[in-house]
Amino acid sequence: MLTHLTAAKLAQRLHSRELGCVEVTRAYLDRIAEVDPKVGSFLLVDRDGALDQAEKAQSLIDSGEHGALTGVPIALKDNLSTDGVETTCASKILKGYVPPFDATVVERLKASGLPILGKTNLDEFAMGTSTENSAFQLTKNPWDLSRSPGGSSGGSAAAVSADLAPLSLGSDTGGSVRQPASLCGVVGFKPTYGRCSRYGLIAFGSSLDQIGPFGKTVEDVALISELITGNDPLDSTSLPTAPISSRDLKQGSLKGLKMALPRELFGEGTDPGVAEAIQLAIAALVKEGVEFTEISIPSVAFGVTTYYIIAPAEASSNLARFDGVRFGLRSEGQGHVGLVERTRAEGFGHEVKSRIMIGTYALSAGYYDAYYLKAQQVRTIMQQEFQQVFSEFDAVLCPTSPVPAFKLGELTQDPMALKLLDYCTIPANMGGMPGISLNCGFTNGLPVGLQLMAAPLADEKLLQMAFNVEQALPSATCTPPIA
Ligand code: GLN
Repeated sequence: MLTHLTAAKLAQRLHSRELGCVEVTRAYLDRIAEVDPKVGSFLLVDRDGALDQAEKAQSLIDSGEHGALTGVPIALKDNLSTDGVETTCASKILKGYVPPFDATVVERLKASGLPILGKTNLDEFAMGTSTENSAFQLTKNPWDLSRSPGGSSGGSAAAVSADLAPLSLGSDTGGSVRQPASLCGVVGFKPTYGRCSRYGLIAFGSSLDQIGPFGKTVEDVALISELITGNDPLDSTSLPTAPISSRDLKQGSLKGLKMALPRELFGEGTDPGVAEAIQLAIAALVKEGVEFTEISIPSVAFGVTTYYIIAPAEASSNLARFDGVRFGLRSEGQGHVGLVERTRAEGFGHEVKSRIMIGTYALSAGYYDAYYLKAQQVRTIMQQEFQQVFSEFDAVLCPTSPVPAFKLGELTQDPMALKLLDYCTIPANMGGMPGISLNCGFTNGLPVGLQLMAAPLADEKLLQMAFNVEQALPSATCTPPIA
């Protein structure tokens, strides 16, 4: 089946004219119509827009002016601004909001001729770990429809897993690309902070947010990363570096690579099935010549608590703009203050409100030093500790998520337990490091993700290592029963 191909193979067949762009885009749209009612990945399917872009892609190919992925369709997390297409962040407050501009990544996709299939579900404003905080719908895990796809980019991860899109984009503030990739058995990559423009990504925690792709293989995420990364003057935190190159992806080998296993990231909370799959992967990599060393990164133990001060603090400031005047929902209220109050009371969901309150508290006079400043100090220590690790090792290896996909509803009453699941992914955001998750095995029929992290700016090296790890692990590319 055509929708089962990787993006690289699709591109090859499109560019050799074995397949047509409209035919491919239509195949995905048809599959979405058939399968997505069960999965719930998409908040919006842009059938006409996608077919229109497919025709343009075909003319690029016909005129010989195509890029590496021209004609390959893609799905976008619904916190990426799309010109003329509703962008809701899965929040009632943005219901009906139609951006008048494209995010930089979207502009680059369009320029390169990747038809955009639609907008995928997420936790409201990307705050969550299960996609259950969406104000609009549940997304189900294609491996077991009674389970969560993870979050917050659950819709994007499930879409690639269920063959509803060969590629998708998400955003990762504390793990929201890598964790759902892990739970859905696909590859998810968070580039170094600053390598992918955040312009047009609706901000959550600006010092942590980074857009990242999902694909079936490391090669696919490397190809799409090349397209969406690189300097952008419209984002003041964008690094003046070249796009991530996939040129040397298939070079190198695992032999002699030094990888660190931080004790703190294989801790008590790790599910035995996950631990076993990771151990088996480590054993396979040892056979290929990887040298593993157990180390300690003490600050990792404070990652979750620190993150849950910094991220809400930044969110409380970023979300101040949703006031009922400029975007989306406007509720009736007495005077200006009444209007703002009612709009925010009715427009934001529970999790978003709780983060705004925590963040406002942590930033308020008298508490700033005790919470926000302290959290920033811990963040600096964490960065220094990782810097030290990367001066000795090529990569850090650990589980992406301490548990496999959990049942929908299982953790909704236990927000603390849900937040602890971010334990392994938060460090990469705190340190700005690149991180990638790929499947390394199964427990009770559910995928287990392995995470690799590398030093900031070592994106190319990380992708190359992940490519070689993928070759060494037979279960790295897998297909859920629904496909
Ligand atoms: N689960 C984390 C949170 O709720 C991370 C979210 C994200 O990366 N967007 O904040």
